[in-house]
Amino acid sequence: MLNRKELEDIAAIRTNGGYFVSLYLNVNPVTNTKGDYLIHLKNMIKDIPEGDDKKIFKKIKGDIEKVESFVIGNKRKFKKGLAIISSSEKSFWKEYHLSVSLKNAIIVDRTPYIEPLLDILDNYQRYAVLLVDKESARLFLMHLGEIEEYGEIHASDIPGRHKKGGWFALSQNHYERHIDYHVGLHLKDVMKKLESFLTSERIERMILGGSEETVVRVREMLPRPIDQKVMGIFHTEMFANNNEIFEKVKPVIAEFENKRQRITVSDMLTMANKGENAVIGIEDTLNALQEGRVMRLVFVKDLKDSGYVCGNCGYLTKQKVSDCPYCKGDIDQVPYLVDLAAQKAVENGAQVEIIYDNKELLNAGGIGAFLRF
Ligand SMILES: [Zn+2]
Repeated sequence: MLNRKELEDIAAIRTNGGYFVSLYLNVNPVTNTKGDYLIHLKNMIKDIPEGDDKKIFKKIKGDIEKVESFVIGNKRKFKKGLAIISSSEKSFWKEYHLSVSLKNAIIVDRTPYIEPLLDILDNYQRYAVLLVDKESARLFLMHLGEIEEYGEIHASDIPGRHKKGGWFALSQNHYERHIDYHVGLHLKDVMKKLESFLTSERIERMILGGSEETVVRVREMLPRPIDQKVMGIFHTEMFANNNEIFEKVKPVIAEFENKRQRITVSDMLTMANKGENAVIGIEDTLNALQEGRVMRLVFVKDLKDSGYVCGNCGYLTKQKVSDCPYCKGDIDQVPYLVDLAAQKAVENGAQVEIIYDNKELLNAGGIGAFLRF
């Protein structure tokens, strides 16, 4: 899973006169039914500029071969976007399989090219999930519908765990105070680690889980700026697996996202109705895309529509036309017009927002866009 710390570490790697090959490839199986991405990749490789360094191709030959054979051999792993950063000189290889479309690009440079990955961190909401009890804590990161455990925190020394310890001899009252003191230390330690995680990853939203008692206590201790990031709580056992935690957290996020998405949709509809910088419906949206005016494309999840695409310039339309009005290229009929629209938006540098559940937008055709102008 993408995280900022790792990207910053990658960005800081320097070669000794060598190069990095950074590949971004749209491998969405829906829009690449015949594996067209391989053709795009080969064309991009052919077009790599020579630059000042005439020996550049010699230096990146190994990387290019590795990247090519990876793309040929790992189809089953692919989601929508594939990112690879490779430097054979540094024996460095990093691949990301992303559930968002990417703009095709291959960049050969002395430094790794990570901007598209940073954009994904900025444009798609990430959530921290903290699961905590009196002795331990687990930290997770949720992004693009996936969850990953980030780290564990264990209290350094909780007294009274073993019967032979000196604490056991203490009076009940005294003993509980000691336990309480140690739990307090542990929670303080958790707060500190949580805070530095949220700051370094620049995460704005978090969800808190654990027993009712611990969650209440943790919330009392949370500094105000962090408490404001808490958007919901859940209860589960400390040993729950990632999947169980994901299922508990999902409804909390869905509720928050739905609220936010309702506002997005109602803003877009209002603006479109007033003739301000927004459009609604597939035809107006495709026109705006063609004119490069789309700032943010918004559509309902799993929206399907069919239409026509120019095989030469990628012009998209709902209308049957004999040849492309822009380049006279041949027109193909396609059953995945919305996926192509999303890909085109990404290529134009626009954002794409998928709306999970919204009747208002469905009734208005399921798709629209905020425009730059
Ligand atoms: Zn065309």
